[in-house]
Amino acid sequence: MKTQAEIVVLGAGIAGLCAARLLHEAGREVLVVARELGEASRVPDALLNPVRGKRGTVALEAEEALEALWDFYPRFTPVRQGILRPVPESDRAVWRQKLQGRRVPHLWLEEGLYLENAGWLETTPLLHRLAEGLNILYANVERLEASTLWLEDGRRVSGRVLVYAGGASGAHLLGLGGRFTPGSVLLTQQHFKQARSYGVYVAGHSLGGSYLPHQDRYSPHQTQPHEVEWLLSEAERLLGYRPGWSSSWAGVRYRLDKDYLKPIPGGFALTGFGSAAYFYAPLYARRLLKRLTGHS
Ligand SMILES: Cc1cc2nc3c(=O)[nH]c(=O)nc-3n(C[C@H](O)[C@H](O)[C@H](O)COP(=O)(O)OP(=O)(O)OC[C@H]3O[C@@H](n4cnc5c(N)ncnc54)[C@H](O)[C@@H]3O)c2cc1C
Repeated sequence: MKTQAEIVVLGAGIAGLCAARLLHEAGREVLVVARELGEASRVPDALLNPVRGKRGTVALEAEEALEALWDFYPRFTPVRQGILRPVPESDRAVWRQKLQGRRVPHLWLEEGLYLENAGWLETTPLLHRLAEGLNILYANVERLEASTLWLEDGRRVSGRVLVYAGGASGAHLLGLGGRFTPGSVLLTQQHFKQARSYGVYVAGHSLGGSYLPHQDRYSPHQTQPHEVEWLLSEAERLLGYRPGWSSSWAGVRYRLDKDYLKPIPGGFALTGFGSAAYFYAPLYARRLLKRLTGHS
């Protein structure tokens, strides 16, 4: 296996794979180094949601992110269109105001806000499709020195440029700071073709969300019994009943405020998307491509 390339991408989650894919398509020599295919990116189903939280905050650059994601994901996997946000009547005026002047297609229905251009996708098939044909070296990176990666087995990997996309679990390698938020998803017996989100979300076989406090460093998470109870009680509010579930998935979100693409010694860090990683990854991968090649 090669240990040198023009561009070395550390990480094969949604951030690293979007970037590697676009760079590869642009004819650049890319080597991805990762412990495994995605970590937090293995959240079973991911919303692509431009209107965030219970406050109806319209995501920064939502229009550009939507355009980039629709241009990218359908080439690799089906994207299910539409998210219903059952906003309480009392909050709708504020939400309307926030959407005013933004080019985020939506309809107000009796049940709430319908985001026509939002959606959701199953992550595992997407990660595998994105990885197809890429040079991936599966190894554990112990430390970074500019654009050189030191592997656990003593080997060194180097590139002219390093793209750090190691997410929450690799953040200590760079010392980027940021916030780490653990959370869980219950795998439901019912399949939700129509995504709904308010407090928690349902989409596909997922019931997900998090209310746990942020931490200032990464530590692996395991679903706690009180999280299960919280997810089910929020689901009851959202759906009117508690869905049956069979197993759970736990992960850690990593958030860097706005600074999702930033220069680091030897290259760039592409990380810190919090719970909007699948939403922003294609847009920021495009921006990285532009920074590295001058092409968009
Ligand atoms: C409960 C919950 C629900 C969520 N829901 C959504 C959602 O609906 N929509 C959405 O967009 N996002 C959602 N997220 C967030 C999303 O799961 C992640 O933020 C996102 O996928 C992170 O992607 P990433 O590529 O940055 O990192 P990761 O997927 O964590 O990938 C990191 C990569 O770096 C590699 N790596 C790290 N350290 C090393 C090392 N030392 N050596 C070698 N390799 C290393 C890993 O092996 C992996 O390949 C949710 C998260 C949680 C917890």
